[in-house]
Amino acid sequence: MKELFLKEMSLYIHIPFCKQKCLYCDFPSYSGKEKFISKYIDALNEEIKSKVNHYKIKSIFIGGGTPSYLNEKELKKLLKCINTLNLEKDLEFTIECNPGSLTEEKLEIMKKYNVNRLSMGLQSTKQSILKEIGRIHTFEEFENNYLLARKIGFKNINIDLMFGLPNQSLEDWKNALNKIVELNPEHISAYSLIIEEGTCFYNLYNQNKLNLPSEDEEREMYLLARKILKENGYYQYEISNFSKEGKECYHNKVYWTLKEYLGLGVSSSSYINGKRIKNIDNIENYIENIDNNKSVNEEIYINNINDNMEEFMFMGLRMIKGIEEEEFKARFKKDIDEVYGLIIVKNIKRELLVRNEGRIYLTPHGIELSNSVMSDFII
Ligand code: SF4
Repeated sequence: MKELFLKEMSLYIHIPFCKQKCLYCDFPSYSGKEKFISKYIDALNEEIKSKVNHYKIKSIFIGGGTPSYLNEKELKKLLKCINTLNLEKDLEFTIECNPGSLTEEKLEIMKKYNVNRLSMGLQSTKQSILKEIGRIHTFEEFENNYLLARKIGFKNINIDLMFGLPNQSLEDWKNALNKIVELNPEHISAYSLIIEEGTCFYNLYNQNKLNLPSEDEEREMYLLARKILKENGYYQYEISNFSKEGKECYHNKVYWTLKEYLGLGVSSSSYINGKRIKNIDNIENYIENIDNNKSVNEEIYINNINDNMEEFMFMGLRMIKGIEEEEFKARFKKDIDEVYGLIIVKNIKRELLVRNEGRIYLTPHGIELSNSVMSDFII
């Protein structure tokens, strides 16, 4: 009976290890740190046990890095610990996997310990592009892993794809989309390449050594993705995310609807009790702090009402159905027009926003210019 009163929570768990760093990647992930994996998992399990047992877990996302890079023993150790938590019956439990790093045994372990969704980072189906962006796998390895996961019984699989990549043509992108829809995954994420500071691509870009598609070509790629995916039964529910009916990612919607979540592991972030909390980045310090019962928080920021209103708007507008005016009022005790009236009218006039039946959302053109629309909502 006591369990009935536990607060619902979503967990993000970070695995910061990768076999090799991709050239575009600015995520907190490292290659060459394998010697810390075992101790890291022990420390992570301690953090999980100390912070999570008074919640009812609604969704879990193990991301990275490359969670599937853990060996069978470490993977089992982590999943076993997670399975001691109060897991909801309809839990959505995702693990990010990189092609080439999955084995039958790993997939069996995941299945046994209630993982019910895989998110596979494929990015491109063309070998020369995969190589050029620093991916370590081939399309064939991806395909083998995908089919193996199906054989073992995974019925909810996401595939990540990227466009706007160096030397990628519209035709390449079209082929990638067509090849992937043929495999019939439940969910597809299609992201455009962003050149982030601190990455190899950032340096190459500054030296004019990246042959990137033009802005117009990139826009065409995005429109093509929307067209092909729609024709194949994928419903777009967020700027970069498409799913089969009923297969939207619950966990991501937690972020976009400004619900609470708890981040565990190095570099993870939490949003809880109105606070944004960020864990430290250094793996060795993280292990040491956990071993010595010290905090692993690096930064705690208490969101004020303006932060919350801004985040509610620009996270919510990422979703195709946008935000609900009544929800804004219920959360912030203010009418949305009192805060954003002029901005909403301005963007409706520019045909970038629509206001309809109590909701505000981006028009198809607004989706293309989403960054500009969202920046208007910063108070
Ligand atoms: S596998 Fe993912 S996390 Fe690791 S370096 Fe590549 S993009 Fe980054």
